[in-house]
Amino acid sequence: MPGRHHLYIPGPTNVPDRLLRAMHRAQEDHRSAAFPALTRSILDRLPAVVGSTTATPFVFPASGSAMWEAALVNSVHPGSRLLAVRFGQFSHLFIQTARQLGYVVDVIEVPWGEGAHPGLIEAALRADPAHDIKGVLLVHNETATGVTSDVGAVRTAMDRAGHPALLYVDGVSSIASLAFEMDAWRVDCAITGSQKGFMLPAGLGILYCSPRVVRALDTVTTPRAYFDLRPMLANNAQGYFPSTPALTLLWGLDEALTMLLDEGMANVVARHRRLAEGVRRAVHAWGLSLCASNAAWYSDTVTAVVVPDGADARVVIAHAASRWNLSLGSGLTQLAGKVFRIGHMGDVNELMLAGALAGTEMALLDAGIALTPGSGVAAAASWWRESAPLSVH
Ligand code: PLP
Repeated sequence: MPGRHHLYIPGPTNVPDRLLRAMHRAQEDHRSAAFPALTRSILDRLPAVVGSTTATPFVFPASGSAMWEAALVNSVHPGSRLLAVRFGQFSHLFIQTARQLGYVVDVIEVPWGEGAHPGLIEAALRADPAHDIKGVLLVHNETATGVTSDVGAVRTAMDRAGHPALLYVDGVSSIASLAFEMDAWRVDCAITGSQKGFMLPAGLGILYCSPRVVRALDTVTTPRAYFDLRPMLANNAQGYFPSTPALTLLWGLDEALTMLLDEGMANVVARHRRLAEGVRRAVHAWGLSLCASNAAWYSDTVTAVVVPDGADARVVIAHAASRWNLSLGSGLTQLAGKVFRIGHMGDVNELMLAGALAGTEMALLDAGIALTPGSGVAAAASWWRESAPLSVH
């Protein structure tokens, strides 16, 4: 098909040309005297993205899922008991990973479309006076349902329960897009990958550890090899990596950090909020509803849209792809056919999303779902116009 492809799945996200250019480089000697400058530029600036001055960042050739494993095996003993909330496919997979690694996970089941209820976490921790539970696993932004949980409120609940468990936060679809306050929330492990808010191709797993986790690295007895953070820490201190790093992606990450920090994290967060609100207004104008059941849980990086009874979201997605050159995210597992997802994360602006909304409207009509053509785009455009200051000079 002529013209650009329109990628609006919730990751991988669009890679800006500036990052493509930064990655367009010859391979080089990663043991050279010059290399540490790149390592330091990245590791020194990564914490600012998660609101931290104390976290130690780790970067692996891997993806977000791998950082679930890296976080756990470096911080809790074999067979430890953990507490998790399950409200979507990614919280499910985080739990599954922990169980496959031999940890025992108590699960708080929450209907998909809701987020973490701090009160339930507090109650579960209060019911553990012996402090058997060693960690709380939380997916900040459940990409499957478009739900963002309040990590600060979960931290407060843990404090109220007076429980010392570590706090693990999956920020794969929140970090570098949504407000993330690692220090203020006292997150112990924050987990992400390169292909969402960092606007890069998949291929990097990024893990941030609190000083508490770093201090305890030597005492944890869980077997680990590739994801052992100790050789990484020792090599990083000299500006190197224990094995061959994903060089091209590192150059991209360095440039992505410049883009994010030049824009300013507060502005990045505000941009995502404004853009997401436009998408939500479009969905409401179409007469459709969100999978997120309460406005408090609306995600500013991904919107999961519920199709009417009798309609199949897979048909909408198929029309979008084949007729309009538009990729929308599918409904995962129990949501298959019931929702499609619009990703609005990373390098996006109003007119890019207006195109995505126009394509979505046409695909909805193609799938036989009645709506007023142009209604979604108009609702989004009205919001974007009224919420942005005029800047004609
Ligand atoms: N956690 C969340 C919230 C995700 O959205 C994803 C992927 O979409 C993952 C974890 C898994 O990350 P990856 O696909 O990079 O392994």
